[in-house]
Amino acid sequence: MPFAVRMKKQPIVAPKGTFDILPQDFPYWDRLEEAIKKVAASYGFKRIETPIIEHTDLFVRGVGNFTDIVGKEMYSFKTKGDDELSLRPEGTAPVIRAYIQNGMDNMPRPVKLFYVGPMFRHENPQAGRFREFHQFGIEAIGSSNPVLDAQAIKMFFSLMEELKLKNKFFVKVNSIGDRTCRPKYISALKSYYKSQQGKLCPDCRKKIATNPLRIFDCKNEKCTRVSLQAPNILDYLCDECNAHFKQVLDYLDELGVTYLLDTKLARGLDYYTKTVFEFYPEANSAEGGKTNALGGGGRYDYLVELLGGKPVPALGMAIGLERIIGLMKQEKVKLAMPKEERVFLIQLGDMARKKSLGIFEELRKNKIMVEEAFSKDSIKAQLKTAAKNGANIALILGQKEAIDDNIIVRDMQSGIQETIPLHKLLGELKKRFKEQAA
Ligand code: AMP
Repeated sequence: MPFAVRMKKQPIVAPKGTFDILPQDFPYWDRLEEAIKKVAASYGFKRIETPIIEHTDLFVRGVGNFTDIVGKEMYSFKTKGDDELSLRPEGTAPVIRAYIQNGMDNMPRPVKLFYVGPMFRHENPQAGRFREFHQFGIEAIGSSNPVLDAQAIKMFFSLMEELKLKNKFFVKVNSIGDRTCRPKYISALKSYYKSQQGKLCPDCRKKIATNPLRIFDCKNEKCTRVSLQAPNILDYLCDECNAHFKQVLDYLDELGVTYLLDTKLARGLDYYTKTVFEFYPEANSAEGGKTNALGGGGRYDYLVELLGGKPVPALGMAIGLERIIGLMKQEKVKLAMPKEERVFLIQLGDMARKKSLGIFEELRKNKIMVEEAFSKDSIKAQLKTAAKNGANIALILGQKEAIDDNIIVRDMQSGIQETIPLHKLLGELKKRFKEQAA
């Protein structure tokens, strides 16, 4: 027996941490994307799409080598042409790269861009955490005005409202300072953690030198206890950062946004300055804050310069779509209803099938949604499919009708059918749709 025949074929499954979006889930994705586009446009953001692969260096330079995202989680590879590329783990660095590369720095400021698309991180998959996931993100480039920070935060709440989610949400906010004040804070933080290093886990001990802000995120109980007594960033902010942060909070009050000041919020990317924030659903906050964030963002006033552009301040945020879809499903949000007018074309016999192809195209061209089961022969099977698909009108073309240039129009609900000349079909359907809509 040949080897190929003897070998038991194992089905190939999707790589760990990835998933298929199946037809039954698409109404959720469509509804969410439609809401995103509406909300983004209403705040003046224009859509941009960047490649899924970028030069690895973009993320090393932009996001930072000592971050988990770049240091541990990137899908990086060398191409046949010896390029070092990575699947994008986040959207901000690529958008800023595109902004610089496409001369958008000559456009009126702030330049407001949004994106929707997949991101890739080699993380441990668990509930709400995947290796390929999708983000909606915004970037507002070219202004340091705190009103932008507050508006970006408000946008998240507007999106939740647009989706009619009943859950309540809140945002954690903090300021992590800028070039003037952050180094002093980092140095105070390093001294503090050095004095406590015996009580820290090995991973956090390593972070003292490289990225002490990340120790705040450690879930180890001992590390959390040490972090409780750590120096407070708000005591170190320079006058400018302090005034900026106060204004952000003022605007949030003005906008009626529920926020929680969290001085331990630092976020996982190096490029942030001043305001940082993360969004959470309120319903789960009672579980001791274990809930995954729905999104987050902040200012990155030096990133454009770092990536080779004219130095301008900027701000962005990203929201995880899988987590929002999870909430939409939990709450059974109302999805866009399929069109009421559903027509199903049934054919019987070779001649009728051939003729049906033309009728199908004609209806489609006239923007009438028509479904068919050309691969099925029996009228019973086709009627069954029509009913299952929720058709309200079935068109039946048998041998006799095909010869006589007629077609049968059947009302699926009442079962009443009438034979009409084929050339009157379009007019008849339009008339029936009008009656249905009335
Ligand atoms: P970040 O880019 O890390 O600030 O993440 C922003 C948002 O993207 C998070 O709040 C999540 O909603 C989502 N997100 C980040 N990483 C993942 C992941 N591995 N799986 C699913 N969603 C994610």
